[in-house]
Amino acid sequence: MMEFDVVIGLEVHVELKTESKMYCSCKNEFGGVANSHCCEICLGMPGTLPNINKKAIEYAIKAGLACNCQINTTTKLDRKNYFYPDLPKSYQISQNERPLCVSGFIEILLGNGTKSKKVNLVQIHIEEDSGKTIYSDVDGKTYVDFNRSGVPLIEIVSKPDLCDAIEVKTYLETIKNTMLCLGVSDCKMQEGSMRADVNISLKPKGALKLGTRCEIKNVGSINSAARAVECEIKRQKEILESGGKVEQVTLKYSDETNANIVARRKDEVVEYRYFVEPDLPAIEITNEEIEKIRSSIGELPNAKISRFMSEYELPYADAYLLMEEHEKGNFFEETAKISNVKPKKIANWILGDVSRILNKQNSALASSKLTAQNLKKMLEMIEDNSISNTAGKTIVEELMEQDIEPELVAKQKGLFQTSDLKLLEDVAKATLAENPQISELFEKGKTNVLGFAVGECMKRLKGKGNPVLLKDIVLKLLEEGGKSE
Ligand SMILES: [Zn+2]
Repeated sequence: MMEFDVVIGLEVHVELKTESKMYCSCKNEFGGVANSHCCEICLGMPGTLPNINKKAIEYAIKAGLACNCQINTTTKLDRKNYFYPDLPKSYQISQNERPLCVSGFIEILLGNGTKSKKVNLVQIHIEEDSGKTIYSDVDGKTYVDFNRSGVPLIEIVSKPDLCDAIEVKTYLETIKNTMLCLGVSDCKMQEGSMRADVNISLKPKGALKLGTRCEIKNVGSINSAARAVECEIKRQKEILESGGKVEQVTLKYSDETNANIVARRKDEVVEYRYFVEPDLPAIEITNEEIEKIRSSIGELPNAKISRFMSEYELPYADAYLLMEEHEKGNFFEETAKISNVKPKKIANWILGDVSRILNKQNSALASSKLTAQNLKKMLEMIEDNSISNTAGKTIVEELMEQDIEPELVAKQKGLFQTSDLKLLEDVAKATLAENPQISELFEKGKTNVLGFAVGECMKRLKGKGNPVLLKDIVLKLLEEGGKSE
């Protein structure tokens, strides 16, 4: 068995969520009637002149800063020349020599947040999207839709720092979470607003020289990317182990067959004949502008996950969910700050019952009546045993419906647990008298019957006994029973 190092680098395209396109005022919107939002500029008709969308540059800088890049204060746009039916002007305005953002890194959290890894970046440059070629199943013809032509993009180019499917998946999730948090893209892979090309090669363990790489183009989802990587590592391993040579190819991953299909054999390097875009000036950015954008960036997803884990002692999964749904994350923090209840318990309620009810109603937390103050009060009632956990669920449902004190709900619905010692003792005595086997087993040292006994008492009290008091009483009776014999 040979051992290999897996070397993976990614190019991730992220469409920027600006109102208009990169170089014209056409609407930047997914879908729509084919060719309903395109003009002579995004089609590159002779005699037209592009204009730079300032917002797109601002978003790209924001993304670059969040990925720890240096921003070039003078940046140039270049023409990348190639012919394709969905690119009528035969070039894309991209960046070659002086990209907007250089170096930088994206930190990914691995091992349930116990480890982290820096994935270094080569650059983040700005680009415009091409149109879409549509192969019709109906009439077998090929159509072109230019609605996507000229949509602003950034391309995040990593160094080959990744080495397995989990790292690729985490890297893509980190980019997605970061871009969503910045508000620069919706990152919908199913709509193509985030797309990834994955380059993979294998080399004998420890070898310096890189192996021949293959590129998997345009994977459709983050999970597909992970599966495609697994398939490709396996495929290259098999070739190398049987003494073969990996051929440099472009692959397309198929979800249906869970396999990578060769889309193109690269026998020559594509020559794009880059040159400076003559219709657009160099972009000058001041340090003040950069700092202004930097100051608009809030806490980033991974920082939030790590903080939730350390500050509130939450497990990674909870911290991740509360980061992902920032409304719930904010509500959690608001409640945790005013309450003495263990933060993990608060997270359990928000991610459990509260989320379940919201899902059922298909609504957001903001439109429910639940306040941090009321959730806190309800949780404290459980903590001091005035109500049971089950009663808490009923109360939460009510608190989400109307602005009402949790104590009042408990009173109205008769949910308070009884702490009446006389009543509890009577019930305990009656239960033990009816179930003599409990005392017998307890005397034989089977102390776990205590739980069963308390449960039986609880049934008689219809769940409304204070379990802590009840447990003390039953235990006392059982111990006395032993002594009196
Ligand atoms: Zn246009």
